[in-house]
Amino acid sequence: MHHIRSVSTLKEIKDFLSSIEENSIIFLDVDDTLITPISKVFRFRSPYRTLIDDIKRDRERIPHFETLLSRWRLQRQTQLVSEEWVGFIKELKEKFPLYALTQMETGPLGDIPLMEKWRHKELTEKGLEFTLTYCGQNKEVILSSPSKPYDATFYKGIFSTGSYSKGEIIRQYCLRKNPGKVVLIDDRAEHLNDVYNACCDCSVPFSGIFFKGERLIAGVPDTTVAEFQKDHLLSQYEWLEDEEAERKIREGSGFFSLK
Ligand SMILES: [Mg+2]
Repeated sequence: MHHIRSVSTLKEIKDFLSSIEENSIIFLDVDDTLITPISKVFRFRSPYRTLIDDIKRDRERIPHFETLLSRWRLQRQTQLVSEEWVGFIKELKEKFPLYALTQMETGPLGDIPLMEKWRHKELTEKGLEFTLTYCGQNKEVILSSPSKPYDATFYKGIFSTGSYSKGEIIRQYCLRKNPGKVVLIDDRAEHLNDVYNACCDCSVPFSGIFFKGERLIAGVPDTTVAEFQKDHLLSQYEWLEDEEAERKIREGSGFFSLK
């Protein structure tokens, strides 16, 4: 589709953004666009990469699902998808309003008192900071309903979907701000299409960047180690990074053994 282009490097993003209109607004996805887990379990060629999505889909059947998900979020280590993001975001922020747009639960979740605060800390610790206010506020509930467990919110530069979609947030944004153009950089085509449809509804021009940078990070997990990590997370509610899982297997915990 002509309104969405696929890129794999920050250089391609920079080239594309160098010619966009002055009154544009830029939204950046977080997971697998800005940051990604270090563990090989989550690499693009790993058969286990959808582990957390699968757990979320099964949430009704997992006891204390929110505790499990919050512990994974607190314990997994992350890396920048590209080291260049930090400098590039600082540059872009001088020229455009620049926000993170993340599909994530909001409010308290299991062991995390406030998801938005946790995410903000995780990103600022990596040097990633966005335009701090939206309509003069640094915290706001964007969408909320008694029938939905998680509000869509804004917190210090980060829009979080909660129980809503990225498109629903962008629709609210466009209704209030009527921007000249919306740009979204995301590693998932469904979010790009959803936001494109929201922009069409509001007659706001849209440019999507389908960012495949995470696919350039090498690594495939060892099946035994990945199975152990998955089993340990689901039974012990604890995430083990690759080396720690390997060490535990070597020390002979349970029936797993390295080939
Ligand atoms: Mg993503």
